[in-house]
Amino acid sequence: MNNKKYMVNPCIFLRIWGDKVSQINHDYINSYLTDQIPPHEGILMELEAYAKEHHTPIVTPDVAGLLKVMIKSINAKNILEVGTAIGYSAILMGLSAGEGFHITTIERNEENASLAIQNIKHAGLEQNIKVLTGDASEVLDQIEETYDIIFVDAAKGQYMDFFEKSISKLKIGGLFICDNVLFRGMVAERSLLIRRKITIVKRLKKFLHYISNHESLQTTIIPMGDGVSISCKLKEVFFNDKD
Ligand code: SAH
Ligand code: MG
Repeated sequence: MNNKKYMVNPCIFLRIWGDKVSQINHDYINSYLTDQIPPHEGILMELEAYAKEHHTPIVTPDVAGLLKVMIKSINAKNILEVGTAIGYSAILMGLSAGEGFHITTIERNEENASLAIQNIKHAGLEQNIKVLTGDASEVLDQIEETYDIIFVDAAKGQYMDFFEKSISKLKIGGLFICDNVLFRGMVAERSLLIRRKITIVKRLKKFLHYISNHESLQTTIIPMGDGVSISCKLKEVFFNDKD
């Protein structure tokens, strides 16, 4: 038997043909990690079921766990989110932050935004979570508050723009967290790259290089879910020549 032709990592081919396979980890790792996490109850469980049925993207259970740890470890009470969808991650972060938290979350899709508002009301958190409808590129300029955590989970091609428009609103010692930064592995592995995603991948790579090397940030990239970056803001970030 000639095994050689199978040594080119069949997973990569599966991923290319599949186009839908979004995992950057082996199945057994994802399953194991997910198995360790106690299932949610109540509203979060309901929203997970809704998201599954309607193919709405929400943070994966491991990323949800990571957000909870980050929130608890710095006792985050003020959180800014870019990309609300149906409000799942906003509600999840709010429940984790507990008493006296405040979340501002931005969503450009009006249908999603109104669904999120409904869900937030249903969770009884409408006093604490404010949904702003509009493109974050514009909405972010109007925000004046300061936050402990900024969580970006929206159009991947705009992460640099979101960063530039929001980093001044993050307190020193705060965390700038981005979801989906490894984009189905395409950022790291050329053979996974889908033609029509080339521009987004280029932008993501530039963004990851930027935040990983910035002297005002301490950044780590975690191969969890679809890839998460966490940057701790060490000092103010200044922009000289924007290109
Ligand atoms: N954070 C959510 C999932 C967000 S999915 C959760 O885990 O529950 C990504 C969302 O970002 C989509 O609803 C999309 O409409 C929104 N989005 C994408 N680009 C955006 C932008 N530029 N401004 C505001 N919202 C954006
Ligand atoms: Mg995401």
